[in-house]
Amino acid sequence: MNRRTLLQSLAALPLVSVSLSLLPGRRAAAAPAAGQPPAPASPPTEKELQNSWKSLLDADADVATTTEPLKLTPAEWKRRLTPEAYHVLREEGTERAGTSLLLEEHRAGVFVCAGCSLPLFTSAMKFDSGTGWPSFFTSIAGVLGMTRDLQLGVPRTEYHCIRCGGHHGHVFEDGPKPTGLRYCNNGVALRFIPKLSSGSAPKAPPRPGKLPGKS
Ligand SMILES: [Zn+2]
Repeated sequence: MNRRTLLQSLAALPLVSVSLSLLPGRRAAAAPAAGQPPAPASPPTEKELQNSWKSLLDADADVATTTEPLKLTPAEWKRRLTPEAYHVLREEGTERAGTSLLLEEHRAGVFVCAGCSLPLFTSAMKFDSGTGWPSFFTSIAGVLGMTRDLQLGVPRTEYHCIRCGGHHGHVFEDGPKPTGLRYCNNGVALRFIPKLSSGSAPKAPPRPGKLPGKS
């Protein structure tokens, strides 16, 4: 190859890549056809919901910021919890269907463990299952432990808070997209924290005498 041919080959290279990007097939994938409305935005994936859960929480919200185990004696738990929450969280009880105020909770925010304030679910993960218990199709990542439960003679998957070990509910495989799962949670085992500030609102000053992130 002489010098002149080499220069001609090099000069031709950018033209090749430009012409490839202008091929009709490639353009069709990138933009809707003329006169067509843009395709509706697809719903967020499970990963996106799990990665963005902090956007539904105010910066000064009273939540646990660590999964470091919280171990208390039964007497200490009794002082800390209502009798109903103690029965569910510490004795694997089940609240009566249709009794939770959280069934009608539709504000944006985060659901934390009533025992230890660890964030477990967000409003974006909640759906109306019609069962009478607050239901979610996924959870915040890494906050739930699972066990096989044979209490009713049929194997079920029990789940609990990974920080305090408190029982929350059972997970079933009849939930909606994108996971097909239904986390059937006792409302009394949860505390809801609504998001009060919008992203651009000025932050409230820290409350005196309170350490951030402690529960
Ligand atoms: Zn907990």
